[in-house]
Amino acid sequence: MSVDKNAYQRIKSELDEHTVSLVAVSKTKPIDDIRVLYDLGQRDFGENYVQEMTEKAKQLPADIRWHFIGHLQTNKVRLIIPFVQLIHGVDSLRLLKEINKEAGKAGKKIDCLLQVHIADEETKFGFDENELLALDWNEIVSMSNVNVTGLMGMASFSDDLNKVRNEFQNLKKIFEKIQTADLRFTTLSMGMSNDYQIAIEEGSTMVRIGSLLFGQRNQTS
Ligand SMILES: *Cc1c(COP(=O)(O)O)cnc(C)c1O
Repeated sequence: MSVDKNAYQRIKSELDEHTVSLVAVSKTKPIDDIRVLYDLGQRDFGENYVQEMTEKAKQLPADIRWHFIGHLQTNKVRLIIPFVQLIHGVDSLRLLKEINKEAGKAGKKIDCLLQVHIADEETKFGFDENELLALDWNEIVSMSNVNVTGLMGMASFSDDLNKVRNEFQNLKKIFEKIQTADLRFTTLSMGMSNDYQIAIEEGSTMVRIGSLLFGQRNQTS
């Protein structure tokens, strides 16, 4: 078993001190590993792949709050609506509309975060600042089956901690700038195993931590 219970307790109390919530990222890890943290009281788990998440959700207690943190394709939205708590990676208006439509059919209102592209890397999905500012926010606020509760971002994968810090600062600025009297955000999802402490210092309210809790994954995942 590669789950690090001590790391969990340590990180959990560190986060509690700052009232930052923890999404335990369990992608590629077996359900027995998830149960270990569940038994310690963890309820928020994050997954990147639709099929993997639905299969795990079926086998695990219903009070787990599942976070979809991967890149979501519009044709798969319907599959996660029944049990997803928060969709972190909404990277287009088209996807948000699809979530709104499918949530409507299911009689639900789904919390979503818009993903912001803050890293250098071309491969990371998300809106850039100008695209976010150009969105029709009145339209978004008026969608009856989605609730955009904040933003999510990933810093560059880099040893240059100043660069990482600057990217988080930039995301926090955008987070403040987008909000209006009619639109109040609650959630800024930023920080992973390598950079969560910097993210907290820069205003994160929710971190997504995998390898520190569950051990390393294979290179391909
Ligand atoms: C895999 C993943 C994480 C967790 O990464 P670790 O480095 O293992 O903590 C967090 N967020 C997203 C979007 C991920 O894909």
